[in-house]
Amino acid sequence: MILTIRTYGDPVLRKVSEPVGKIGPAERMLIASMLETMYKHKGVGLAAPQIGINKRIFVTDDGEGPEVFINVKITKPKGKAVLEEGCLSIPGINIDVERPNEITVEYIDHEGKSHKKIFRELIARVIQHETDHLNGKLIVDYLPPEELKKYQAKLEKIKNKDTHANT
Ligand code: ZN
Repeated sequence: MILTIRTYGDPVLRKVSEPVGKIGPAERMLIASMLETMYKHKGVGLAAPQIGINKRIFVTDDGEGPEVFINVKITKPKGKAVLEEGCLSIPGINIDVERPNEITVEYIDHEGKSHKKIFRELIARVIQHETDHLNGKLIVDYLPPEELKKYQAKLEKIKNKDTHANT
């Protein structure tokens, strides 16, 4: 099922999401819909708050196939890189974000299996972007106040747009 993407200004994007207890049929159905929605919008990642659910789940596909991340914990950040990022919840705005280039990630997959893996470059960036969503953080929060002002008019436009026009 294609789900409606929540956009900038929706309070659901600013809440800290809750950890997932168990992965049952409801969670599996949600994950399938999230993947479908991500592919429909040609995104490389989608976090549950972006479809209005404050649970610690996100999906990714950096070109290497779909991955599901549940209850992610990021440790051992290494290096730094700046890259332009976009966000399905903030259409039309791209922002340079500095992030660690390598991270260690502990997570549960869609089958409930635990993993601990090192990720680098693009996929590491996507994982960090989506984890930010779970903590109520958006790419515009990385802008210094002076820079943020430049985007204010565009952001107001997204805020005031009827969400139905966006599906
Ligand atoms: Zn995003």
